[in-house]
Amino acid sequence: MRTFNDPNKLQRWALAQRLAGRKIALVPTMGALHEGHLSLIAAAKRKGADEIVVSVFVNPTQFGPKEDYAQYPRDHRADAAKCRAAGATAIFFPTPENMYAPDHSVWMVEDGALSGSLCGARRPGHFRGVCTVVAKLFNIVHPNFAVFGQKDYQQQTIIRRMVRDMNFDLKIVVAPIVREPSGLALSSRNAYLSGAEKESALALSRALKKLKACAKNGPRPWKAVKEETWDELGKAGLRVDYVEAVDADTLAPVATLEKGVAVLLAAYAGKTRLIDNAVM
Ligand code: AMP
Repeated sequence: MRTFNDPNKLQRWALAQRLAGRKIALVPTMGALHEGHLSLIAAAKRKGADEIVVSVFVNPTQFGPKEDYAQYPRDHRADAAKCRAAGATAIFFPTPENMYAPDHSVWMVEDGALSGSLCGARRPGHFRGVCTVVAKLFNIVHPNFAVFGQKDYQQQTIIRRMVRDMNFDLKIVVAPIVREPSGLALSSRNAYLSGAEKESALALSRALKKLKACAKNGPRPWKAVKEETWDELGKAGLRVDYVEAVDADTLAPVATLEKGVAVLLAAYAGKTRLIDNAVM
């Protein structure tokens, strides 16, 4: 497995691979890798990539001033070992300095149709940072396809739109959420949770399971179901940020819970903000 730190070196290498007819997959991450990330590498393998490039970069521009940029877990050595074992062929560890010139001034911005609600509304500038870094990674790695997790539902929706609207010449693959046997969606931020907070966090996947069962029984007005869900999460000890039912493609709010609708949840367990989702 190759290790790159310098975007220019990676770009030259990647271009040579493409010119030689090799298929490149990109797996963008912030590191502190877990089985969820590794499932994206496995998906890239299954899709027949010759080169699987995993980027590990805690991107400063997608964090708000009061968020956990400084505390975010970082362990390059463990990440490299996991990538190698999972079959990645290259790992990219850039630094903020070599990704952003001191006078960086061009950004990739979604106009709000998709990023104005949900996490985008609670984390101003977050998706501007995400879209910018992902566009940069696409230009550096020249991937035939990039793999994202359904875990970040709004993110994958926005990235797919960015690829369509900006004519990026690549495909987006979306991989399902990997969960602990308890139901808890794997996340690098789970490392912040105390035992009691982790117990509370189980309410998220429990709620989604219940909502799925409910949607199976036929359409239900969302308003009442939303209130009930909000209450349940609160009773479990979570501080709810949002409980939303949206169109699975456009993220537009829907009034009815039914099959095909995406339900997105965000809540704090202590100081840790967790997200989860499911398509009914
Ligand atoms: P992150 O390192 O949290 O920015 O995530 C990097 C990529 O891994 C994103 O595309 C996430 O959606 C994906 N991911 C994170 N957690 C999971 C999970 N539990 N299952 C599947 N994919 C995940």
